[in-house]
Amino acid sequence: MNKTKSEQLHKEAQEHIVGGVNSPSRSFKAVGGGSPVYMEKAEGAYFWDVDGNKYIDFLAAYGPIITGHAHPHITEAITKAAQNGVLYGTPTRLENQFAQMLKEAIPSLHKVRFTNSGTEAVMTTIRVARAYTGRNKLIKFAGCYHGHSDPVLVEAGSGPSTLGTPDSAGVPASIAADMITVPFNDPQALYDALEKWGDQIAGILVEPIVGNFGIVTPEPGFLETVNEYAHAKGALVIYDEVITAFRFTYGSAQQLLGVEPDLTAMGKIIGGGLPIGAYGGKKEIMDQVAPLGPAYQAGTMAGNPASMAAGIACLEVLQQPGVYDRFEELGVKLEAGILQHAKDAGVTITVNRLKGALAVYFTDEKVKNYLQASASDGEKFAQFFQLMLEQGINLAPSKYEAWFITTAHTEEDIDRTLEAVKTSFEKMK
Ligand code: PLP
Repeated sequence: MNKTKSEQLHKEAQEHIVGGVNSPSRSFKAVGGGSPVYMEKAEGAYFWDVDGNKYIDFLAAYGPIITGHAHPHITEAITKAAQNGVLYGTPTRLENQFAQMLKEAIPSLHKVRFTNSGTEAVMTTIRVARAYTGRNKLIKFAGCYHGHSDPVLVEAGSGPSTLGTPDSAGVPASIAADMITVPFNDPQALYDALEKWGDQIAGILVEPIVGNFGIVTPEPGFLETVNEYAHAKGALVIYDEVITAFRFTYGSAQQLLGVEPDLTAMGKIIGGGLPIGAYGGKKEIMDQVAPLGPAYQAGTMAGNPASMAAGIACLEVLQQPGVYDRFEELGVKLEAGILQHAKDAGVTITVNRLKGALAVYFTDEKVKNYLQASASDGEKFAQFFQLMLEQGINLAPSKYEAWFITTAHTEEDIDRTLEAVKTSFEKMK
């Protein structure tokens, strides 16, 4: 595959942009280095790079592009919004409409606030939980990534772990000291942490279905235990649904799993591909936020008409009948094919999948927590990633990231992908 132009652009990028990328997870550092592919056009399930190569895309921009690239309904909504002016700095009708749509879809959201990113949304739920409880400490689960704000860059997941820097320089030790990390799916560890620090804990931050060390679902009863333990100690439960909201069902993981948090942070899918974040929760807690309450959060771009219009249009697409059943159908096919080809080639893997989100770990262990996900062989993943890319299949360049099926993927795309998987595994054995 010719990548001359990508290589040239990456050389230039390194002159101007730190590391040549605007988010570290886009670099190929974790998959043997080299130039990332520079994409030029995206439509439906496909990418075309600057050298004219075509790819089937399973990155989906790390999650948001659930309807495929350049979905006509979303593109039309963005175009209309742009024609009416992209930023007002005043309230708009679209914000009301979208907030109402989110509330209807996710009943635990009594009130919401829009932000510009998932990072901001999570960061603010932490501030609000602290304001509401008058406490400072938090609990999170090892390997879970919650954006790049200071309090959560402590034993963070996909990005930092992939780069071998679990804690970031520049985060004061005093801030990190307020974050207690326990393994996911381990009720005893959570109990122990709460016994020790319970009266100081403002909130427990959890991805109800983990999307940052592959795809890991909670063990039966685990999230109920999180709620029970947290509330017994007067702490709040904060769900980070930045990946999971509208991923597995029309609504959030909390509905799928039947457990309600006190606060929820969202992002990615709800922006239809434009920058967005949102958080919400119980009325009495959300009323802590300015201008009603003492917890400050703001944003020049927050709730901008283009992001609102794109988000509304994206949810309208997801409301169409059969969308999530189709993810399941294609997901089953993809998972079964990957497992079969691995078996035939004698390559050891574990696959975790829920609906259209799937993770391939190069390990024979079951993966229920970060430690087990970390056991996935990074060199094997790097080899697999490069072999797939050579055959025109675009995956995330990290062993911790999931594959995402979109509404644009077809049976034929899955067949083509499975042929590439077969060839890759045969070359790896
Ligand atoms: N929370 C989770 C679970 C995420 O996966 C991410 C991003 O990958 C974030 C928060 C941060 O979102 P953003 O990149 O929009 O700031």
